[in-house]
Amino acid sequence: MIEITDLLFKYSGSDFALQVKRLVIDSAEAVAVVGPSGSGKTTLLNLLAGVLLPDEGQVRVGTQQVSTLHDAARRDFRIKQLGMVFQNFELLEYLSVLDNILLPLRIGAGLKVNKAARVRARDLAGHVGIADKLQRYPGQLSQGERQRVAVSRALLLQPSLILADEPTGNLDPSNKTLVLDLLLDYARTHAATLVTVTHDRELLQRFDRVVDFSELNQWQGVT
Ligand code: ADP
Ligand code: MG
Repeated sequence: MIEITDLLFKYSGSDFALQVKRLVIDSAEAVAVVGPSGSGKTTLLNLLAGVLLPDEGQVRVGTQQVSTLHDAARRDFRIKQLGMVFQNFELLEYLSVLDNILLPLRIGAGLKVNKAARVRARDLAGHVGIADKLQRYPGQLSQGERQRVAVSRALLLQPSLILADEPTGNLDPSNKTLVLDLLLDYARTHAATLVTVTHDRELLQRFDRVVDFSELNQWQGVT
């Protein structure tokens, strides 16, 4: 499902580099990505999502060579196949919770908000305990509630790949379990692939596999 080969990525004006010879994640696999802060976990998710492009090597997701798609095709791929939970949630402050969850439908070409989509949005919100907050605005939510809006939005279009960047990072223990249950249940019932960055060691046993970033990045500091 996901295959990274001979990847090299650098930010311009930064000493950081990410070098991955090979990483394969099977279809429907649930993988936890761990590693110290600043080790490149968010960068890796952005490379998988086609938000960042590698300087060398290939990133394949399903049948798509993400690294060679043009801008419009990459955007379309992101909206239709990926569910992303961002580290900072990326909620739009001027939209209600319901409209934030429905956002992928508003920005995807050829997609529109209909009754079934609203039902699905409510259903997802119900699963994570925010069904009574759909008419609020993000500024009226706690961090944990914002997190759960972000997770609901990521699952709206039934993606085949979910990329979640510390999705349980701001939650208390019971909400951590709730959010992880939702992501894992979704992945298992839809045979979707789940890649989750996490610092929650106690949650690792619930994943099929753990990818440790300190072993993954082979960058030695020479060009
Ligand atoms: P993590 O998610 O593991 O904490 P990141 O992938 O966010 O790490 O960052 C990896 C490294 O790249 C860090 O040293 C960070 O400072 C640097 N970095 C992140 N984003 C940028 C950017 N846009 N420009 C330059 N350097 C960046
Ligand atoms: Mg990060």
